[in-house]
Amino acid sequence: MLLRTPPVILPFYHTVSDIPLTHIQHLYKVKNLDQFQRELDFFQKNYTAISVDHLIAYNRGEKTIEQPSFHLTFDDGLKECSKIIAPILKERGLDATFFINPNFIDNEHIFYRYKVSIIIEKIKRDQLKQKLLRFSINDSEELNNIAQENKINFEDLEIYMNHEEIQQLIDLGFTIGAHSMSHPYYKDISIEQQITETNNSIDFIQEKFNLPYRVFSFPFTDFGVAKETFEAMNTDISFGTAGIKTDILPHHLQRLPMDNCLGNPSIFVYKHLLKFTLQSIFNKHQVKH
Ligand SMILES: [Zn+2]
Repeated sequence: MLLRTPPVILPFYHTVSDIPLTHIQHLYKVKNLDQFQRELDFFQKNYTAISVDHLIAYNRGEKTIEQPSFHLTFDDGLKECSKIIAPILKERGLDATFFINPNFIDNEHIFYRYKVSIIIEKIKRDQLKQKLLRFSINDSEELNNIAQENKINFEDLEIYMNHEEIQQLIDLGFTIGAHSMSHPYYKDISIEQQITETNNSIDFIQEKFNLPYRVFSFPFTDFGVAKETFEAMNTDISFGTAGIKTDILPHHLQRLPMDNCLGNPSIFVYKHLLKFTLQSIFNKHQVKH
């Protein structure tokens, strides 16, 4: 069967590390450097790298995409982005976009799911683990109380990039986007909060770093995000995480979650392209909101 491929594949990552990361290890498997390099080899061999500027122009109908292309994206603004990932990408001449939560810059605050992983690692109690993994951002107070009771301090952690490190990425030519203020699951908050989380983060990133563009990726997923939120957004381009799919909204694109790729990247991408091809036969390849 001839596989259908969208013009652009948008791989999406969080981080890459050869040492265990306590704040992530109870949430999903962290990708090691070897695996990451193998995936970059695959994308560079099979697709042409394009910039976000090109993507924006393409979406506006001002530019074409001649060959199957890709653009790398990284969510959450973690330290490894500037320390490990950016040097690898630079060496390969690759572009990428890094999505940042303003509340977490300089380790000012920490994503509630990272707190969950840290607490699970420290207290190792199975029953509590299941409860903690079900917590939403609305349980933040209880989460902080549990940490305090167990004498777990989040203050000295250096998980995220600071302002200077983000600025260095910009100076190296990478794109910076917003990823909500505090990384809530949008289905857990009101429509008003969804709009505030979205627009405040985009305004903050654009103003703080003096950027000519407005780029955004939804935290967790865009599934269940209110129509009103999409309508209230003012972006050049935004991203979800539904895999290889097209989207009914013209300035919104779907990305392929690479944290789920644990082996051969060509088999992983092939499976997603096969799914996309089969879905397109039944007209189910497009995300509607
Ligand atoms: Zn995220």
